[in-house]
Amino acid sequence: MELKLDIDPISSWGVDDKRPLIMAGPCSAETEEQVLETARGLAKQGIQIFRAGIWKPRTRPNMFEGVGSIGLQWMKKAKQETGMLTATEVANVKHVYEALKNGIDILWIGARTTANPFAVQEIADALVGVDIPVIIKNPVNPDLELWIGAIERIYNAGIRKIAAIHRGFSSFEKTNYRNAPMWQIAIDLNQRIPNLPIICDPSHISGKSELIYEVSQKAMDLGQYGLIIETHPNPKVALSDARQQITPDQLGEILKRLVIRDSEYEHPETKHTLEQLRLSINLYDEELLKIMHKRMEVVKQIGQHKKENNIRIIQTKRWEEIIHGMEEKGAGYGLSAELIDQVFKAIHQESITIQTNILNA
Ligand code: PEP
Ligand code: MN
Repeated sequence: MELKLDIDPISSWGVDDKRPLIMAGPCSAETEEQVLETARGLAKQGIQIFRAGIWKPRTRPNMFEGVGSIGLQWMKKAKQETGMLTATEVANVKHVYEALKNGIDILWIGARTTANPFAVQEIADALVGVDIPVIIKNPVNPDLELWIGAIERIYNAGIRKIAAIHRGFSSFEKTNYRNAPMWQIAIDLNQRIPNLPIICDPSHISGKSELIYEVSQKAMDLGQYGLIIETHPNPKVALSDARQQITPDQLGEILKRLVIRDSEYEHPETKHTLEQLRLSINLYDEELLKIMHKRMEVVKQIGQHKKENNIRIIQTKRWEEIIHGMEEKGAGYGLSAELIDQVFKAIHQESITIQTNILNA
């Protein structure tokens, strides 16, 4: 179900709407010099929006929790000197008032705050009657409805300049990322609110500088609107998120390397080929459905057999053998172990559900 929100285009924010839209700046404002030096470096790279955290939501107490309101003065200077718009994170009403009072141009709501509807509602209430762009990061947990709910709360306060940031999701499982990207959730958000610009945060997704390029490229290939990237004049000594920050010059290099591909709608002449290929995909998908149906019919017979003979459902050892064998066979077809693992885990889960239902019928 599509949500029809009357969202203003990015050009109304007072920036030149060239894609990708780039926001950059330090994780945290640390000193006036650091803020100004970063802003100058970024302005040289043509960046239009300067980000900096003033109040930092840290995992443990006694870590650097941001410089507080004094940093807003430094951002104001950065704006006066470079002409860049400024953006900061707000997590409560006091932050909103301080940021507005000090002329911050764009507010964003951090991942931990988005996860808390009370906090988002308080911020929304403080924004009634204010015309300022607000960007809503995804919640830390992969819950699309919670993300949409936060967007709606801000929208219902009358804010029309809205965007979203995909900054990845924290998970118990160890991955190569600090916050694993879930591209499908961002795609689903785009389907639910098609005119909502989605900006990718490769810094918080990656957690390390060397991954920023590939995550940025992926976001661009998926048609995301822009990038927010943490930059610091000397990342090694940054007081927060040192491992993922890059210098303004490194950012410039990354932006030069990024390939921005057109959407298919800009290529009417190749439309026919794409349509043919999609028809083939549809046919194969239907075959998959038929095969899956046949497989589940067999599962039902097995369930019946187990019930009649009092055999329990899960035979862990057999399952391990199957998945291992499938990964090997899949490799022979050029299919990744990850695909095999995900598909067969889902099929196995469904088989267990079917058999449990039969056993308990
Ligand atoms: C940040 O952008 O500095 C930040 C704290 O991000 P997140 O809310 O995504 O963790
Ligand atoms: Mn950060």
